[in-house]
Amino acid sequence: MKGRALLASVSPISTTFKENDMRRPSVTRVRKMLLEEKQRLQADRARLLDDQSDRPDADYTAGIEDDGGADLMELERTRALVMTIDSMLIQIEKALLRVEAGTYGICEVCGKPIAAARLTSIPSAAMCITCQSRYEA
Ligand SMILES: [Zn+2]
Repeated sequence: MKGRALLASVSPISTTFKENDMRRPSVTRVRKMLLEEKQRLQADRARLLDDQSDRPDADYTAGIEDDGGADLMELERTRALVMTIDSMLIQIEKALLRVEAGTYGICEVCGKPIAAARLTSIPSAAMCITCQSRYEA
């Protein structure tokens, strides 16, 4: 009876997955993967911003015409990277909310389950591969 009680206490997410689909990552694993990814991105973000503030000539708008051009490009690249990381962090936060709500692994567009392999490679995926390719097209 102990096992049965344990099953009943599992997060509602388990009921949204087909019983025979054993390849799907468990809620615990998904949450762990998302939190690890989040920490990694936050560390990357902090490192990028640190590198930027370490620059001796923080006044990057000066001297663009001569040798400041490369620095400005570097700064733009850093900004673009930070923006990318920010949007990835938002995706992860949303995925964590879906985990808590029990809707993780369900496509936000068509409502069908997202393939396990896709969730394993992109834990924050909000759409199935079909909807994602349509979205990007
Ligand atoms: Zn879909």
